[in-house]
Formats: sequence, C-alpha cells, structure tokens
Amino acid sequence: MINNWYKIASEENKLQDAIIKKLGKEKGILLYNDVKKELDQLNVQYRFEGISALGCAKNDVLILSNSLLNFSMPNLLFVLFHELTHYYQYRKYGDDFALSIYINSEEKIKEDAQRLLQIERTADKFSQLKSSYYLKKHSINESCTVSGYRHLTAEYLATSILQIKRTAKKMGLTTIKDINEFIYNLVSNPRILMTFVR
Ligand SMILES: [Zn+2]
Repeated sequence: MINNWYKIASEENKLQDAIIKKLGKEKGILLYNDVKKELDQLNVQYRFEGISALGCAKNDVLILSNSLLNFSMPNLLFVLFHELTHYYQYRKYGDDFALSIYINSEEKIKEDAQRLLQIERTADKFSQLKSSYYLKKHSINESCTVSGYRHLTAEYLATSILQIKRTAKKMGLTTIKDINEFIYNLVSNPRILMTFVR
C-alpha cells in the first residue's frame, strides 16, 4: 500500500539522516547501507516513537525510541543491534520462545527472571560484537556508553516480570503477541516507568 510505503520510507529517512548528521554524508551513507542490509536480512520493519524504553522488539514491528536519533553513533548501534538480536532469536527459536517467562506461574519467577536476563545479555553480547565490527569498519573511534543489562540483576527484572505475569493473568493475555503489545503499551505510557531496554 502506498501509504505504508511512505511511512516506512520516512522512518528510513529519519535513521539515515541521523547517521549522516553524525558521520557526514559519505561515511554516513555507507554505514546506513550496512545497517539497512542487517535490517533487511531479518526482514525487520521499524518506526521511531516517544517511548520510555530505548527499544521494544514487538514481533511485527520494532519500535525505537526517538531519543536514539540523538545518541552517539556507538550508542545508537548498540541499541539497534541489541533489538535486532531479538529478531534473530524470534527467527531461530520461534516468535514465542520467551512467552513462558510471562505466563508461567509466579513460583517460577526466579528461573524466569534468570532466563530473561540470559536472553538480554546474549543480545548485549551479540550487539557488542556487531557494533564493534561496524565501528571499526567505518573508523569510528568513539566508545559505547550504554551499559545494557550488564549491571542489572535477575532480582531487578523479577519485579517487572511479576507485574506483567499478574496483568497477563488478569487480562487473559496468552500469546506472545498479546504480551508484547501489553509491554509496548507500558513503555508508550509515560506515567509508567520502565527503565530497562527491552
Ligand atoms: Zn532486549
């Protein structure tokens, strides 16, 4: 559909413009093309919105925070590749590979939180490798200051997971699409503070 096409194109322009602003036109376009290739390989659609998390990897579309457009290049790449890893995970293990974390009974909270932390730290690790590769390729010498999940504990995640588990049960959310939509609503609502990257 034409309308959709323009919408996607304008989101691509936002990303491209932000990268060019940081790196200049020549280098910016080269790096943007590399990033675009990574997104296209996974067939990931994305859009920028005012959300309180840095990113929200819904199954159908990746929502990125508007604030990323003003991040330094290393920080922008780190968040982008962190979120992209979730799509590698969706493609490899299935869209609902993380569903049980949110719908298991509350007694399993410890192992659920541990599992989420593991998924997130895998995304951080993968992202760090990918970002370093592209920073080096394009001779960008700044370093990344986003710490991701490095300093977060399973206990910290458990609080948010419990909140989601309880709401999911109350609202009858049973699919990963429902859960992701709910999490997206949480991060879209500025009154609810969710400080972790998802
Ligand atoms: Zn994540």
